[in-house]
Amino acid sequence: MTSSTVTLAPEAALAVVSDAGACAETRASFRLSRTLDDTLGSGSRGGATRTAIERAASGDVEAWLGHVRSAAGCSNPVRLTGSIDRIDAATGALLGTTSTQDMPDGAIYKACGNRRSSVCPHCAEVYRRDAFQLIRAGMVGGKGVDTCVSIRPAVFATLTAPSFGVVHTRRTSKAGQPLPCRPRRNPEVCPHGVELACHALHDKGAHVLGMPLCLDCYDYAGQVAFNACASELWRRTTIAVNRYLSRLASRSGLGEVRATCCKVAEFQTRGVVHYHAVFRLDGIDPDTGDATAPPAELDVVDLTDALAFAAAGTSFTTAPHPDQPNGWHLAWGEQFKPIPVKLSGDQEVTDSLVAGYLAKYATKSTEATGHVSRRLNTETIDLYANEHGTHTERLIDACWYLGRVPEWRRLRRWAHMLGFGGHFLTKSRRYSITFRILRDTRVIWRRTVDADPATDTDGETTLVVGNLTYSGSGWRTLGDAMLANTSAALAREQQRVGREELAHAQSMTD
Ligand SMILES: [Zn+2]
Ligand SMILES: [Zn+2]
Ligand SMILES: [Zn+2]
Repeated sequence: MTSSTVTLAPEAALAVVSDAGACAETRASFRLSRTLDDTLGSGSRGGATRTAIERAASGDVEAWLGHVRSAAGCSNPVRLTGSIDRIDAATGALLGTTSTQDMPDGAIYKACGNRRSSVCPHCAEVYRRDAFQLIRAGMVGGKGVDTCVSIRPAVFATLTAPSFGVVHTRRTSKAGQPLPCRPRRNPEVCPHGVELACHALHDKGAHVLGMPLCLDCYDYAGQVAFNACASELWRRTTIAVNRYLSRLASRSGLGEVRATCCKVAEFQTRGVVHYHAVFRLDGIDPDTGDATAPPAELDVVDLTDALAFAAAGTSFTTAPHPDQPNGWHLAWGEQFKPIPVKLSGDQEVTDSLVAGYLAKYATKSTEATGHVSRRLNTETIDLYANEHGTHTERLIDACWYLGRVPEWRRLRRWAHMLGFGGHFLTKSRRYSITFRILRDTRVIWRRTVDADPATDTDGETTLVVGNLTYSGSGWRTLGDAMLANTSAALAREQQRVGREELAHAQSMTD
């Protein structure tokens, strides 16, 4: 981390922040320094405080905050250096070049864009909102998706993995009362002498949830093989859904139909992936192949039947492994109940509920299992893998050990993901718009809103081409991080208040 060259005694520096007028003229930066003051506490003497104050005292903090605004909330932005050319789109003539050397810090800051909230809360929040829009648009239309989709049958379904051994679970009665985990009057005793019973009422989020009653009995190889091949099992399942629907349609003399879907992978606490998905029943335009309204004869019951049929009937045997010469036979677990998605209503599963639920999981990864690490290699594997260790250590060990043969090498590559190498959010091409469209729309909107009339009067016809290279990541000092993140938080707060005021004003006129 580079630190600023200006050094101030902490006492002198704190005086600068307390006296907001010394470094800030506008209301926004006055509020910023007030908030910083609250955050840091007047007694704080850390490196973050000093560097934040140095930046604030440097006089051009306003310009700097404006410069970093698009990445301000990010925990670990990427710094890019080089030049940006403005080119006339019609003629290809170079209109001008700006070097990052002439910008604050000599670099452009770009948000990291990580979807995991444990890595970057800000970027994950942007991702979650986009995911919500994208998933919801597939159910109700809008954002460029035909609003006709809102009357097509839609079903929400969760496909879980089978059991790989007895684990502690949180059970509740129909009324929501907690029930004992695994009550047994005469419990079985496993070959390792462990009684396979548990009378505890486990709390939500309890550490023991998902942990095997006997670690030595647990099928670690089977579970990581399932994680490694879950995407393939999913692929085969969607094929089975569509075969069922096609057969049903052709038997009734109807046109072609297809289930389009959007799915999110979630790690259960026991460290196995399962999928939440929303399926929509579409017809197929015979000329263009595009999604259209399905035949009126087919409804949500047919879609539910197709899903139930596919979930129960899809299974396959993996490629062989020296430790499992006949391969692993993979199928879904037994709990499966597809739920029709309604567009409104209190008791029902609605589009917003489903989209919110899926989008939330799209910003997570292995956090539920308590394991978060980067890709593992021969140097780091011993820190996380242990054949006789904790549940997670044994899962990682199984990935590494089974991944020793070339055909299963991907288990080593994805050992930090407990063997799962798939995407966390995927959708059929026809389901909805893409993340790319949402991002581009946001950039265009921002350009329109932020456009400086003196320099950007012809945004439509000017191409902006960056010749930028990576020069580093992260904020240069802890103080910069604090200033940028605080200003982004203030901006978000302002937006929230603005939205609330607008909603209030609207409710008064209604
Ligand atoms: Zn970020
Ligand atoms: Zn238990
Ligand atoms: Zn045992």
